[in-house]
Amino acid sequence: MKLLEYEGKDIFARYGIPLQKRSGIIRIGDSTDKLVLDGAGPWVVKAQVLAGGRGKAGGVKLGKTPSEVRELAGKMLGMKMVTHQTGGKALTVEEVLVDEACDIAREIYISVVLDRKGCCPAIIASAEGGMSIEELARSNPEKIIRLPVDVEAGLLDFQARQLAFDLAIPQKNFREFTAFARQLAQVFIKEDASLVEVNPLVLTGDGRLIALDSKIVTDDNALFRHKEQAAKPDHEASEIEREAKEIGINYIGLDGDIGCMVNGAGLAMATLDTVKMAGGDAANFLDVGGGANVEQITKAFQIILKDPKVKAILVNIFGGIMKCDNIARGVVEASGKVKINVPLVVRLEGTNVKEGRAILAKSGIKIEQAGSLWEAAQKAVKAAR
Ligand code: GDP
Ligand code: MG
Repeated sequence: MKLLEYEGKDIFARYGIPLQKRSGIIRIGDSTDKLVLDGAGPWVVKAQVLAGGRGKAGGVKLGKTPSEVRELAGKMLGMKMVTHQTGGKALTVEEVLVDEACDIAREIYISVVLDRKGCCPAIIASAEGGMSIEELARSNPEKIIRLPVDVEAGLLDFQARQLAFDLAIPQKNFREFTAFARQLAQVFIKEDASLVEVNPLVLTGDGRLIALDSKIVTDDNALFRHKEQAAKPDHEASEIEREAKEIGINYIGLDGDIGCMVNGAGLAMATLDTVKMAGGDAANFLDVGGGANVEQITKAFQIILKDPKVKAILVNIFGGIMKCDNIARGVVEASGKVKINVPLVVRLEGTNVKEGRAILAKSGIKIEQAGSLWEAAQKAVKAAR
């Protein structure tokens, strides 16, 4: 799950990572009068979208007076933002964060990533932080520092000190920095993150060290260990994905037009590949789970059909623990409850497959049956066209 900047900073706060003073968060539809701005200003107004590069795209603005801040926030809410990290897509700004602005003397880059080769977390840092770290990595890779982190022991004292020397941290901020670096590694480990990035970590004109930005990606597989986090909305998920999650169906929206209903994640992946090989594109990944009953199948049809792109549905179910005749009855019953207004291709295989196919054939529902996945994929591609 990708966290918004302010959500990441909420986590940082729990670990004692130094931050700017927060003035507030305002959501789309809220009146900007709700912003209570304490301090003397200036303030920084920041679009909360799941992408970096906001600075260059007009998503980070400084306001000197409360009225200017409110005006900037009002303009930012609802704005469509394209940055070099949004992959050409425009993200709508639904929330805006207002922090007390700080006076920046130096910008440093620091992150903790998962080093798959080294089988451990790793710190990536550079004395030249700020907005163009990707460019720096390309032009001057020698300026990027890498450091392995022991997942049990965390970042060790001597490593944190070495890092401070390598980043030329001033004497005055040395201890503050080593504590910060060790805490950052702890955030990565304890929060089950796959990325924790601070870009920039700043040294201010008045000699403070502050994490000015935050980017945290957590591992969904560890969500059960983080109940508070799991209860929060997944900002990246579409409306349909959120609904599917609520009813316990594994659904991921894709760009194609063939809706897929499959049992088992592996078979679902194989189905997507086969559709692609047959010249089509799947509209979704959907795993109805091992015990696909009428209720689940009905819900799965409803979810698939919520996507207006869907021009045909391919059901590919292997009857292992579930028997094919029961699945066929489920499909028949579900199609009585949900109006399926696109061609339906069904491929059943496994236990009691003969009985299952006979049930589908006798049901009177317009179903194209297929004996193999390859045949089913070709039929679905044809039907969608
Ligand atoms: P990003 O572009 O999405 O990574 O957003 P950041 O939060 O990193 O902000 C981008 C840039 O805006 C930073 O590198 C700073 O140069 C600038 N900026 C952000 N907050 C402040 C602030 O409080 N004061 C000043 N002077 N500049 C800021
Ligand atoms: Mg940044």
